Amino acid sequence: MVKNVLDQALIEGAAMIPYGEVATYIPELGKADKNQLGICIFTRNGKQFSAGDTKVRFSMQSISKVVALMVALETCGFETVFKHVGMEPSGDAFNSLVKLEISSGYPYNPMINSGAIAICSYIEPELTFNEMLRRTRKVCSDPDIVLDRDVYHSEMAHTSRNRAIAYLLESKGVITGNVERVLELYVKLCSLSVTAESLASLGLLLANGGVQPETGEAVLRPDTVRVVKTIMTTCGMYDGSGEFAVRVGIPTKSGVGGGLLSVVDQRMGIGIFGPALDKKGNSVAGIRMLEYLSSQLGLHLFNDESKDVIYRRLETQLSEEESL
Ligand code: GLU
Repeated sequence: MVKNVLDQALIEGAAMIPYGEVATYIPELGKADKNQLGICIFTRNGKQFSAGDTKVRFSMQSISKVVALMVALETCGFETVFKHVGMEPSGDAFNSLVKLEISSGYPYNPMINSGAIAICSYIEPELTFNEMLRRTRKVCSDPDIVLDRDVYHSEMAHTSRNRAIAYLLESKGVITGNVERVLELYVKLCSLSVTAESLASLGLLLANGGVQPETGEAVLRPDTVRVVKTIMTTCGMYDGSGEFAVRVGIPTKSGVGGGLLSVVDQRMGIGIFGPALDKKGNSVAGIRMLEYLSSQLGLHLFNDESKDVIYRRLETQLSEEESL
């Protein structure tokens, strides 16, 4: 039954692909095949369901902002992270500079470029890129994550807006270290290559409070996980976060590589790859798939039915099915 729902979700999502376009402002991303589409669900009780292109590697892009936030919270602490970065949705595009200049001068939240660049400036003096890579592999349970050098060089050659943001943050005293090194770390993290499966694993880790369900290892602190999931809910879909929360109600972070990382709390992680994007930079097919799954499986945070009823229905479905 869940597999049938997933297959139907893929059909629903594929119908939206003509309405989206791959990102081209980073030229290397423009080479993606916009018709690719895949979705994975990993549940807390060990079931895995997949449909479509779930093993294709693509760059994490903004989904790396979730990992950077986790690492910064665990390494530098909550007070440091949120001293100069807010927790509010910005209502502007992910790479906007507007509010940095006209309001407080601080980034609105860690899920937009300015916030993530500030967060990278806290991480950069503490941890090497290789350590960040190791931690990304760990939280995604994917030892094959590597730096996609073509994407990295392509973005570094076309990153004027991010460079402008970084120097503006330096002028406001938010970044105090070496701006170019911070920018390099930010772009490298965006260029890590993942699959829909790696994102489903990360989603499951977050759904399970930071504990690896298979091994029982506590990988992240519970307070880190709570902050990350909350900010994904309010700010994870750029300036589309409010409408997405109403229609879908699943904490999610998107990236312009076409990835979506979703967390159904206490239940499952969902990973999606669909590089055709809407005007806000979110996967058009991915959003449709999540909307469909949310309604079919009762996954909205504030579902009309009580969570218990929905959860029991899902558990019954799962126990009747074979893991794929
Ligand atoms: N590397 C991208 C940028 O800085 C990430 C944007 C995104 O995925 O939203 O523009």
